[in-house]
Amino acid sequence: MPEQQILRVAVPAPLHHSFDYLPPADTSTEQLLPGVRVRVPFGRGERCGVLLEVVTAADADGRRLKRALALLDAAPLFSAADLALLCWAARYYQHPIGEVVANALPLRLRKGEPPLPVLQRIWSLTALGARQNPLALGRAARQAELLALLLESGGSLGQEQILQAGGGGRPALQALERKGWITLDERLPAEVRAAPTGHPPPPLNADQQAAVAAVDLACFGSYLLDGVTGSGKTEVYLALVERALAAGRQALVLVPEIGLTPQLIRRFERRLGMGLAVLHSGLAAGERERAWHLARLGQAAVVLGTRSALLTPLPRLGLIVVDEEHDLSFKQQEGFRYSARDLAVIRAQRSGCPVMLGSATPSLESLHNARAGRYRHLRLTQRAGEAQPARLDLLDIRSVRLEAGLSPVLLRMLRETLAAGNQALLFINRRGYAPIVTCHACGWVAQCRRCDARLTLHAASRLLWCHHCGSQRRQESKCPECGDADLRTLGQGTERVEEVLAGYFPEAGIARIDRDTTRRKGSLDRLLDGIRQGKYSLLLGTQMLAKGHHFPDVTLVGILDVDQGLFGADFRAAERMAQLVVQVAGRAGRAEKPGRVLIQTRHPDHPLMQRLVSQGYAACATELLAEREAAAFPPYSYQALLRAEASREGAPREFLEEAAGLAETLAGGRVELWGPVPAPMERRAGRYRAHLLLQADQRADLQRLLCVWVSQLAKLKSARRVRWSIDVDPQEMF
Ligand code: ADP
Ligand code: ZN
Ligand code: ZN
Repeated sequence: MPEQQILRVAVPAPLHHSFDYLPPADTSTEQLLPGVRVRVPFGRGERCGVLLEVVTAADADGRRLKRALALLDAAPLFSAADLALLCWAARYYQHPIGEVVANALPLRLRKGEPPLPVLQRIWSLTALGARQNPLALGRAARQAELLALLLESGGSLGQEQILQAGGGGRPALQALERKGWITLDERLPAEVRAAPTGHPPPPLNADQQAAVAAVDLACFGSYLLDGVTGSGKTEVYLALVERALAAGRQALVLVPEIGLTPQLIRRFERRLGMGLAVLHSGLAAGERERAWHLARLGQAAVVLGTRSALLTPLPRLGLIVVDEEHDLSFKQQEGFRYSARDLAVIRAQRSGCPVMLGSATPSLESLHNARAGRYRHLRLTQRAGEAQPARLDLLDIRSVRLEAGLSPVLLRMLRETLAAGNQALLFINRRGYAPIVTCHACGWVAQCRRCDARLTLHAASRLLWCHHCGSQRRQESKCPECGDADLRTLGQGTERVEEVLAGYFPEAGIARIDRDTTRRKGSLDRLLDGIRQGKYSLLLGTQMLAKGHHFPDVTLVGILDVDQGLFGADFRAAERMAQLVVQVAGRAGRAEKPGRVLIQTRHPDHPLMQRLVSQGYAACATELLAEREAAAFPPYSYQALLRAEASREGAPREFLEEAAGLAETLAGGRVELWGPVPAPMERRAGRYRAHLLLQADQRADLQRLLCVWVSQLAKLKSARRVRWSIDVDPQEMF
């Protein structure tokens, strides 16, 4: 019986399996390489998928299959190992394989466009061309424009820049080339050309040396690098990257979104003496794709990026580093809800290379893994160089009159700090002016019409904003309920604190760093540069200010309000609070200027706060781990969260009840079900939300249930009336 080749294709669609097609007409077997993109008919349209494998089957089995339309790549974009990792991730996170694979592709490639050329096309004036005068070109205005552009930019320019700048377009390029005035040169972009030498590293201290020596680059191993901010973790990463490169391998370094600053990129480039492929969401699609190809083809030895860079194909991968591994931004919170940190460990294991997770405040998951012997725990105990650790103090604000959340003691300390010519940093977990707008006469509170949430006043724009769904409206001048004009604000966000500080310290330069002041490209870097140059003496901001940056001239840090963290609804709230306090505290101080941290709280006697202040993060984490163990919460158990939402109020619950019933029959008592319950914010963006939590003592039990359960969920009738998603190892409960 004749045999038929069948293509298994990962097609982006909300279905958990791959799709089978016959090979496109007129393709030879040699062209059917797993990892190439395939255009396929799908429903009434067409989609771009990726070939996972080619199987042979009896001819008859293929009869009902459709024929794929075309192969889009001559060479595979993914290796077999890359595809296997993506399939593993799709199974583990219970996400459709087609969407997982699409997630790993740069945007243009996802849409089926041809790969961008990796080499840069550079046009240069020849000796003859350099002697020409644009004005002499008379009526050939486009050629004159191009000639002028090249003369102005010193004789050569990339083709993309020329076309962007006008530059007369392609016809002008061709015309001048024919005249012999310009020539084309194709080369690797400057980013990845090695400079002759890098900057020499500082001599590593004993802790750093021990950490570097502990890592075996020849095989898989997980290492937790635990060291306070400024203890020299980045130097350890750099030393390991250098060693991996010397062995002819590639290195992948992941940092949180906020940590990928131009300073960090420059630091890596200078030390390694070469450019990096930098991958993050702020890049233009073309730049990002080019970096992706350079990595995939092995041209870029080092990839520095955020979460999504984890899935970059790297043929010679020899080291993975995840800095600030506790950071929430490593978990994708929508669509394919993977944890780049956890997948990094899996990827390293499958690639046979080491992975280093670094943090000043390791997650309880990673600490638990270190204790269980799965990760090797490496510690940097001192600050590198001369810096001293900051001193933490609790400031009791019970029955203290606050002004915009600032206590008199904190204000006095701010004044002293500024008088001594130092910088101070204030952390507030909320942007905008005030989180509550209320009517003094009747008690009306400004609420979002689409969410169970209050609106935040943004005074500069006079808008009431919902921070949950993004909807906004003009600030009312009168109470919409009773018509009274006495509308007041309660609480404070960064805008209001800035206003009050400007009143107290009119001479001081104030840098406010939050999402509102950094929306425009480059504005964050400008603010950070200003801080470094001493243009600002008061820094205030949200999380954005708390992470990644080091401000050596800051000697006072004030944390306005930590109390939500102590009693948060989420069992991770206390862990996050402790991490945040230590991270904020870590921004400050150096040898001759040790830092001080004041934490305003209404619960100064809370044992957790006490422990954090007197014994530090490690002791706090030990305590929190004991609590988690007693309550059988992660990392001592494994969770998955089934979320559902719909515009009709009862629909999510009906679906989740049915899903729970199904799970119960499948689970056989090895997986606990909690819920369904309404989400902490039940209505958001006009939709009602609820969830069902699954928890098991063994990861394998949970995985076994999920594999069967999730594929059956789609078939439930009630599933059609909701939007649902599954979140494996959820980090947040909303
Ligand atoms: P971390 O990544 O832990 O925050 P870094 O590696 O950025 O720490 O180091 C903090 C500062 O100390 C940097 O300015 C770095 O150049 C410096 N540093 C790190 N290690 C050493 C060392 N062994 N000797 C001197 N300076 C060092
Ligand atoms: Zn009113
Ligand atoms: Zn809203």
